[in-house]
Amino acid sequence: MQRERVADDIYVFTSERYAQVTAGAVVTDEGAILIDTLLFPEETKAIKNYLENRLDCVVKYVINTHYHADHTYGTCLFPNAMIVGHRLCYDLLDTRGREGLEQAQHGTSELDDVQIALPHVVFDSRTINVCLGDKTVQLWHSPGHSPDSIVCLVKEDRVLFAADTLMALPYFVDGSYDDFVQSLHALQNNSFENIVQGHGEVILRGEIEDKIASDLRYLAAIKKHAETASTKSDPERYLDGIDIERCGKSRIPLSGTVQALHRENLRSLYRQLAGEMLEMR
Ligand SMILES: [Zn+2]
Repeated sequence: MQRERVADDIYVFTSERYAQVTAGAVVTDEGAILIDTLLFPEETKAIKNYLENRLDCVVKYVINTHYHADHTYGTCLFPNAMIVGHRLCYDLLDTRGREGLEQAQHGTSELDDVQIALPHVVFDSRTINVCLGDKTVQLWHSPGHSPDSIVCLVKEDRVLFAADTLMALPYFVDGSYDDFVQSLHALQNNSFENIVQGHGEVILRGEIEDKIASDLRYLAAIKKHAETASTKSDPERYLDGIDIERCGKSRIPLSGTVQALHRENLRSLYRQLAGEMLEMR
């Protein structure tokens, strides 16, 4: 796992085992606020060990940015922390999260000790602040990647943990295309110092607006292709021919897995649009 310091008291941990998923720690005199907890306990334990033994800082709050396994499985390793998430995160962890864990545990003994840990504090449409020591982390709903996605702003440093609202490629198959577009617009022109993505590298101040604009252009491009597909005799074949680079994105990030995400995006959006057209008839 890689460790990086993005401000005096803010650390980012990036998994070397699963899709460069990130977790963050905001460190104060009174303890740490941990944002997401990775997938494999081995890596989460390394974070815990670093914070507790190297920085002498106990995790007081765990924030779950959304219910997906790669962001939440480590939460159970912090039984004394107050867990915070969106109300929908609670519901989805309790249902799909439990089902997914059971399946995952059949696949590997490494997850044997993982348990679903539900948020103790949930919020809905308004923003809430998690305050500890001299830091304030503001949370708000940012749906699109998943229905329960949130983002977390460390107000004093203007560092945003965007979770999967920002990653190498917008990915909305478990969420909603329209929500994603809205959530990205909400992140524009906020003068963030830097943004920690849910997967991949930290985005620096000078790159933020370009990155968001590029994601919005990508989403517009795939919508155009999904609409064109519905006029074709073989829509699936048409969509298979729409390369990620034709939509303005590189095929390289996340070890090339973005290409599979792109394909799923196109199919999911096409199905959604086709469904809407059927309803209109
Ligand atoms: Zn996710």
